Amino acid sequence: MLHSRLPLVVSIASSLLVACSHDIGSQNIGSQDIVREHRLTFAANSELGITEATLDDIIREMNTIVRRPDYAWDAPCGHVRFVKSGTLVARADLPVAGPFEHQVKQLRKLAPSANVLLVSSVGCGKVASAAGCANIGAEPSIMALNSPGYEALTVLHERGHNMGLPHSAESPTVDRQVSEQVGMRYMFWRLGQGHLGQISRECEGFSKPLYPSITSLRGTGSSDPLVVAAAFSSVTDLEESPMAPSRAKLETRQSQAARSAGLTARAYAVIAPPLLEGELPLAEISALDKEDLESIRNLLRGTPNSYWLNACYVLAIAGGPGDVELIENTLTRPITPSTTTSLQGSKPDHISKAGLIALKVGAADSLGMIANRISRLNSQVAKSAVNTLFKVAHIDQASMILGKGQAALSLSRGAQRALSLPQTRESRAFVTRILKSTETAGFHGIDSSGLEFAPLEREDIANMNLNMLELQQRDIISYLKLKR
Ligand SMILES: [Zn+2]
Repeated sequence: MLHSRLPLVVSIASSLLVACSHDIGSQNIGSQDIVREHRLTFAANSELGITEATLDDIIREMNTIVRRPDYAWDAPCGHVRFVKSGTLVARADLPVAGPFEHQVKQLRKLAPSANVLLVSSVGCGKVASAAGCANIGAEPSIMALNSPGYEALTVLHERGHNMGLPHSAESPTVDRQVSEQVGMRYMFWRLGQGHLGQISRECEGFSKPLYPSITSLRGTGSSDPLVVAAAFSSVTDLEESPMAPSRAKLETRQSQAARSAGLTARAYAVIAPPLLEGELPLAEISALDKEDLESIRNLLRGTPNSYWLNACYVLAIAGGPGDVELIENTLTRPITPSTTTSLQGSKPDHISKAGLIALKVGAADSLGMIANRISRLNSQVAKSAVNTLFKVAHIDQASMILGKGQAALSLSRGAQRALSLPQTRESRAFVTRILKSTETAGFHGIDSSGLEFAPLEREDIANMNLNMLELQQRDIISYLKLKR
């Protein structure tokens, strides 16, 4: 993505610059009388079937996390509050997956009142199926509903970036290997169990009236009882919420969850948390041993669930030629999503519609990555992966996998984009042809047999061009490690 406004600027220095340049109204911080209310207006494609109850659950949990001290060092943001503004803006033409810049553009065009777009996955960084993405110091944020249990933390993390907050530490830092005060914050570069803390500087970040969506309410000093009630209505929710468990308890809980998923504890720790901003935990993936990887393969031989998305990414990075078939099956097999729950896909043993689209787009991405890695080792298997991607790139095939609609178009685009990764003779020829044809045919590809591909967006093309250029010069792991 060669745009000047990069999603999630990872450099701390530049983030601080943004934060400082918007230091408006911070003189009120510390005053118990002022409550900063963030009015979040959500928008989503109607295909995703998101309910108001889901949004209410997310908002409630966000308020609990920012206001409750979970650790001795955790600074409760008593003067920060999130509310849902209006009802979900649902439209059939909003994006469900695809590049971040395109999603932002479409949101501004189709639902300009919204400041949070809910999708199934977002192309952020070098990963096509990430769980969240945002600009530092600018609305909106994109939140993908593909990681059960992490929804509220993801919105909070991305909203934190909107408010100018940088990460508490960058990749490849591992949360358990740094101080709790760094590793257990929701602004850590990747989320994980117990990432519930914040420091006072982060509360201050949420206290800046940067956007019209942030209103200042009088708190305890207000003479208007309605305003006071509105500002503190979530206090009862806080009292009912349990404190964050100790690290020892977290470890126990994590190994129980791993066992019930049939994964080793280490495989679970890598797979369960969402891929924020598309940043892959490469150090943790490369530390997985044979037993860990075998548990991930077994997972992909069982019943589809929400862990499959990251399982595919792990095998793309650490697997061998024998794993191509598992990823191909994940991409092409028909999967029925579970019916709507109050929180989309909140049970890891099921898969929501949003989770399913994310899985398919992510499986295409993973297939492109693994094909690149193994092409010298086993050219026949790489060729098979490329053929599968080529088939799925046709709208007809993508529609058979996900049904007709935005989701199938996203998958067709995702498969075309993934073909810029393998760098086999066939994939290069295909991508070169596509990129050439887009110059004249309005980004709309039809192959020699008359079969149709979904029209590519400008951002897809920029992304494919970048992949083609970079992957001629370096191997895919070095490419993924490159900071943007
Ligand atoms: Zn982040």
